Amino acid sequence: MQGRCLCGAVRYRLRGEPYHVTHCHCLSCRLASGAPFVTWFTIRALELEWRGEVRHYQSSMGVQRGFCPRCGTTLSYRHESAPDEIDLTAATLENPSLLTPEDHTWVDNMLDWVRMLPLLPRHRRHRQLNRSA
Ligand SMILES: [Zn+2]
Ligand SMILES: [Zn+2]
Repeated sequence: MQGRCLCGAVRYRLRGEPYHVTHCHCLSCRLASGAPFVTWFTIRALELEWRGEVRHYQSSMGVQRGFCPRCGTTLSYRHESAPDEIDLTAATLENPSLLTPEDHTWVDNMLDWVRMLPLLPRHRRHRQLNRSA
């Protein structure tokens, strides 16, 4: 499996099997991504190969978040208590559908409108303007 940031300056390749696929609703993930939640998977650090420069930001004690310095894509999460593991954003995989999210974490912080997602109207592409209104 492989993945990349939006601009393609950073790419990665996995040489092992991802595990612990979760939707994280914590405030830090929300702000770091600009999205209501982030889907992560974990990989052994030794089984991950980077191409291109990843820049890191310490978002809280012992936590380093990696992103592309050119386009800003959120890519990785690492906690110093688990130095041999790294989390990557599942949506940056070339084929995210190969993973099956197992659970939600930090649901105390889940936005009310995320709970409503399955109930909303769906448009195949752009929303069509309602011209009769
Ligand atoms: Zn980029
Ligand atoms: Zn989080």
